[in-house]
Amino acid sequence: MRLSYSMLLNYLQCPLRLVLLQQNPQQFLFPEQFVGLYVHEYLEQKIGMAYGVEGDLNKDKIIRQCLHYKDTPRLLVGDLSIYMDALSRWEPMLDTWAEQCLEILRNDLVQSVDIEKRMIVTAGMELIAMADIVGYTADDTAIIYDLKRSSFKNKYDVKQLALYSWVVRQTMNIPVHKLRFLFLTSNGVEITEYDLRTDDQSALLDWMLKKLYTIGVALENGLTEYFPANTLHYTCSPNRCGKWYECPYGALATDLETIDTGVSSDEDTGHSIGAYALHQDEAGFYLPTEQEIFC
Ligand code: SF4
Repeated sequence: MRLSYSMLLNYLQCPLRLVLLQQNPQQFLFPEQFVGLYVHEYLEQKIGMAYGVEGDLNKDKIIRQCLHYKDTPRLLVGDLSIYMDALSRWEPMLDTWAEQCLEILRNDLVQSVDIEKRMIVTAGMELIAMADIVGYTADDTAIIYDLKRSSFKNKYDVKQLALYSWVVRQTMNIPVHKLRFLFLTSNGVEITEYDLRTDDQSALLDWMLKKLYTIGVALENGLTEYFPANTLHYTCSPNRCGKWYECPYGALATDLETIDTGVSSDEDTGHSIGAYALHQDEAGFYLPTEQEIFC
């Protein structure tokens, strides 16, 4: 069983989706997601190339990569032209963003980088982490950079990068002191920084690793009945869930009004005692918002 942060994120959004993805990894790709993938890929290639990493900015090649996840083709909603239209709105910003990101890395005294660095920790089950950019500085520390195509600067998911920083330490024995979120906005690149030296992440890491392991064991044992998201939640919709069309609580439901998800409601949040409320209850963690899901 291979564990990854995306498994945890899917679990937090909808545990049933995690199970459906395990059964069939093919899922729908929405235009917004496509744009996010394209922007990531383009910038990562360009930043890497500036640091001597082999790369390729060929548009067709990048599009092909975005339409496939490993060997699994992503399913399109409608015609490819819809995706290209969505991309055309942001394409003129790509080189400006790349230059500004590079300036940030240079100011951080980054000497070399790894792009989409794939790191694996093995402890009974493999945990795979893939950071957008890992920058190595002169003082033998690393900074993890996360590209976010969003202008919601106060919304970032520190869980993911905290997990990746742990993986960097485990696999390379290099301390990560800073996490930098690079928000790609219409006004240019804006930074939000997170300092791991002043904020102890050990409880969060412990929770994530245990939760991922529990999920992995459950899936390995053939779990098929994880509960669904609150069907009123924004991720449980045709243009937000890649499994909508094959889910008994999604398109296959005959009457959405009367579906009982078996999940009782949370009086405080209005959310179900589904993944979100569970997430909050366990450690008061940050809830991902609609805007950042696609970054
Ligand atoms: S349609 Fe809703 S319940 Fe079904 S997998 Fe998607 S988010 Fe979960």
